[in-house]
Amino acid sequence: MVDCVMVDCLMLECVMMEVLMVVVLQLVFSRYCSPCDIRELFCTALGLPSSGLVHKSLRKNSMILHVPVSFRAFKINELKTEVTNRLAMLEKRVELEGMKVVEIEKCRNDIKKLREEMASRNTRYSEPHRSNFLEDNKKLTPRRDVPSYPKYHLSKETVEALRLPTFDAWQWEPNEMLSCLEHMYHDLGLVKDFNINPITLKRWLLCIHDNYRNNPFHNFRHCFCVTQMMYSMICLCNLQEKFTQVDILILMTAAVCHDLDHPGFNNTYQINARTELAVRYNDISPLENHHCAVAFQIFSQPDCNIFSSFDPEAFKQIRQGTITLILATDMARHGEILDSFKQKVDNFDYSDEEHVTCLKMVLIKCCDISNEVRPMEVAEPWVDCLLEEYFMQSDREKTEGLPVAPFMDREKVTKPTAQIGFIKFVLIPMFETVMKLFPQIEEAMVQPLRESRDRYEELKQIDDAMNEKKKSENLTMGSKKK
Ligand SMILES: [Zn+2]
Repeated sequence: MVDCVMVDCLMLECVMMEVLMVVVLQLVFSRYCSPCDIRELFCTALGLPSSGLVHKSLRKNSMILHVPVSFRAFKINELKTEVTNRLAMLEKRVELEGMKVVEIEKCRNDIKKLREEMASRNTRYSEPHRSNFLEDNKKLTPRRDVPSYPKYHLSKETVEALRLPTFDAWQWEPNEMLSCLEHMYHDLGLVKDFNINPITLKRWLLCIHDNYRNNPFHNFRHCFCVTQMMYSMICLCNLQEKFTQVDILILMTAAVCHDLDHPGFNNTYQINARTELAVRYNDISPLENHHCAVAFQIFSQPDCNIFSSFDPEAFKQIRQGTITLILATDMARHGEILDSFKQKVDNFDYSDEEHVTCLKMVLIKCCDISNEVRPMEVAEPWVDCLLEEYFMQSDREKTEGLPVAPFMDREKVTKPTAQIGFIKFVLIPMFETVMKLFPQIEEAMVQPLRESRDRYEELKQIDDAMNEKKKSENLTMGSKKK
């Protein structure tokens, strides 16, 4: 680059000499002027000493020997100014050209880097949607701050209703749900016992809200429902008498964080489509690992760190406990976790850390899939939301040529078929096992599950009868046509 500019400077000098020659050739002198006078005028005009080199060169120039009548030497000053201006312009041009060359070279390097980056991305992930990571951690800071988050004074009725599994989350706006979550942390004594800054608690909850995506199912309302069910189980089963406050904090916080930044496509899709998450977590619970990572990215921001008053050892305990619970929500581990709990439940020991951890894992699992525990009018819309999310996935799997699970296929699944197996073989066995430790959940939680199972079985019978009728009608139509 420096060489380039130097060459340009040399060229500028040559151009300058040409300009000077043009000026000289354009001068016209009086016939009465002596060569000496002309030399003096030139030297004055060009700012050279009168005895300089110009003398010899001018003498040799035959043009100057023919001096015209009208001598316009007074023009020389004007010409000098013009030369100076042109020189300045040329210098400026050289400078600008030099800068342009530098800029062009910089752009070339940038383009090269971008191309390389795009090429490497394209080889790793063939589709932009598959990138599930937060964009430059932009979302990690809440989009609004506490002052614009209105304080809702929860009525006595709401506070009471919040403690029950019958609570209807569909009636509440996000801000109201945030206030309810805030209330739960205060009501359980967590804010007081762990010296949590109430403003930090608000800001953390706002940040949590902002980091749930607007999926049909895995969204902030689902986070709220799971946490509210945890709160109602803590109340119903008197868990504060059995567990330490650290355990209660872990249960609540894991529930709040358990689906953070869920992309709306399950682990099977992540693994089959070889997404960034699956690659990052080696196909081992990619989503749950991601939810944990996002949760602790949020805690790493001082403004949102509700654990700021904890000493490193206590923080480590909370972190480990929260991670264990969030990772337990992977349904691929359902059999393993429930079997482990079944082995402990008949001789359950609250002083055994392994037993307590296993119970906490089962509790968060219960809450995560507890919609069918709720009244029918609250539970049923969630089935539609889940199927909508499933169909989005199966449609995409079909277009991408990936395997499609029958329970997600819109051609194969109906609401009753989707629910009956799940309630009979997953929900009831798990809740009945928990019932051994907490008999009080039978009426509040297990009975509604049995009722829901019966209702969906009736619906299935109606569906089957309708299908039979349609089939026989089609057969009759077919035979009539023949
Ligand atoms: Zn969930």
